[in-house]
Parts: sequence; structure tokens; C-alpha cells
Amino acid sequence: MKKKGYMEFVCKRFCSFYKPGSEALACAGYLFFENAFALEAIKDMVERIDITEANPTLLYDSVLRAVCRRCDFLADGCDFREGIPSPPCGGYILLESLIREGILTEDELNRILEETHF
Ligand code: SF4
Repeated sequence: MKKKGYMEFVCKRFCSFYKPGSEALACAGYLFFENAFALEAIKDMVERIDITEANPTLLYDSVLRAVCRRCDFLADGCDFREGIPSPPCGGYILLESLIREGILTEDELNRILEETHF
């Protein structure tokens, strides 16, 4: 079950698949943020992102694969990850934006993945 505050900042804000009442569905993009950061830290990072620049590119595929490969939606079919024109989840968009804007480095992401055993 998703936590309300995290859902507001990761899903409602960034995910085009978000629907009210979908609290039971959590992709790995969402779970990464819930596991890795306090809500206040996410709020702080989100405020520093230019959302209009969010344009997922798979530019950091080698790193983001580490998140997506743990995702239940990958098994069921995530069109974005399969190369079918479709947006990724909000967690993916947020994560890629943080890396692109230098708020989170790929080394920091790898360290978080190791430390949280995500
Ligand atoms: S982009 Fe797709 S596979 Fe990757 S975390 Fe999001 S929903 Fe899951």
C-alpha cells in the first residue's frame, strides 16, 4: 500500500498513469523513493526540478535498469521499457530528472541501491 505523502510527490505529480484509488499498485519507481528517502528530502528535491524539462530519454539506462528490473509492471509489460511509445512511471521520470539536473549522481544512486538492498 502506498503512503499518502509519497504518492502525492512521486505519483500524483509525475505519473500519467496515476488514478485516485490506485494506492495498492506500486511500481518499482515509486518503491525506490519510499525506500530511499524521507518525505521531506523528496519534497526538497522536487522543488529543485524544472518539471517542464522532464522528458524521459533512457539516457541513464544502465543505472535505471537497476530500479526497473525489480518492477512488477516490467513482468506484466511496461510499454516504455519495451520501447513502445508511452511515458514511464512517475518514479522513473523523477529519478531521471534528478540525475539529469545533477541533484543526484549516478554514484549516489548506486550507493543508495546497495545500502537499501532495493
Ligand atoms: S519505467 Fe516501467 S518498469 Fe521502470 S519502474 Fe516505471 S513502471 Fe516499472
